Amino acid sequence: MLRDQFPGLNVTVHGKPLVYLDNAATACRPQRVLDAVQEYYTRFNANIHRGVHTLSEIATERFEGARESMARLINAPSARQLVFTRGSTESINLVANTFARERLSAGDEILISYMEHHSNIVPWQLLCQQTGAVLKVIPMNERGELRLETLDELITERTKMLAVVHVSNSLGTINPVKEIIAKAHAREVPVLVDGAQALPHMAVDVQDLDCDFYTISGHKMYGPTGIGILYGKMEHLEAMPPWQGGGEMIAKVTFERTVFNHVPAKFEAGTPNIAGGIGLGAAAEFIMDVGMDKIQARDAELLAYATEKMQAIDGLRLIGTAACKTAVNSFVIDGVHPHDLGTVLDHYGIAIRTGHHCTMPALQFFKVPGTARASFAFYNTHEEIDYFVDCVQKAREMFT
Ligand code: PMP
Repeated sequence: MLRDQFPGLNVTVHGKPLVYLDNAATACRPQRVLDAVQEYYTRFNANIHRGVHTLSEIATERFEGARESMARLINAPSARQLVFTRGSTESINLVANTFARERLSAGDEILISYMEHHSNIVPWQLLCQQTGAVLKVIPMNERGELRLETLDELITERTKMLAVVHVSNSLGTINPVKEIIAKAHAREVPVLVDGAQALPHMAVDVQDLDCDFYTISGHKMYGPTGIGILYGKMEHLEAMPPWQGGGEMIAKVTFERTVFNHVPAKFEAGTPNIAGGIGLGAAAEFIMDVGMDKIQARDAELLAYATEKMQAIDGLRLIGTAACKTAVNSFVIDGVHPHDLGTVLDHYGIAIRTGHHCTMPALQFFKVPGTARASFAFYNTHEEIDYFVDCVQKAREMFT
């Protein structure tokens, strides 16, 4: 069984077997990822790139091999177009502070959407404050779908960047990013896609999407924490100035001037998260071995099952009911505070997320300060969903 490969699922909480439904916050890791990380620290513990000794060569080979695995997973033309970062947050900040900053003057516009995670809002706001650019927002409807008919008007000759989430972490909406990118490109606007929540659930092909930038969070796609990817088109990466200075990102340094290294080293100053990178490569290989079509099918099936069961609970309102969704169900229940619900469920061994999920504007749109969120992964089971629904019922009766 695939599930047996995830030791993190096999624990008890308050004496109950864990039911882990907080996958959108961070996924569980398969043994293969844990082994890859452990193997690095125990069998070829060394710094990478600069060493001539055997262990350094092995570590470098594994780290660069991981880049290759990730490139295959997202069908990038070359692994050189993948920059290792700490995750989606750092990837977005990198693009905002290099590519976008160079293109912006006062009065220019950056377009994002109503359902963005704070990490795809705040970096752009900071940039606007520093450059005098203006942040504009694509609206959404009451199902949590972007109102794309507004795009033609929202994109103007001042629009210099569009940044949009592929899959919403709080609503579950899968945005039609290929269509958005085509519309933006028709007006010569480059597009960054925040893919943090996409890869754990669906196939991503950056060449088919034709995105200018795509961001990935390792910890959401069954990899380690503190590691992620920024994919970029080569012409952008080559033209972009470096972001952080330090070792590794240089070709030559004198006190007078520095010649920068080639892409992607230009953006990877300092010793990277070597173990994390190697673990991420193992996660990519794991996903490819399981098969994205299998993961996607299981995801759709779990979502349909959970949605039907949850909708039968009295007073429960789903927040985010897009026609195209991943297995994320945010909800509120009349008379029950999400935090209280989360605390009661924890005592039954169930982990869910409660609060604003770092998407305060999206929740303000639905006029709720927070929700409870159950987010599923392919290793979750129908029995777990049944148990979760029973416990939600019990908690509701307790509070109402
Ligand atoms: N965007 C979305 C949609 C997310 O769900 C998250 C993580 N919750 C992020 C960005 C931030 O990603 P990271 O944790 O890799 O910085």
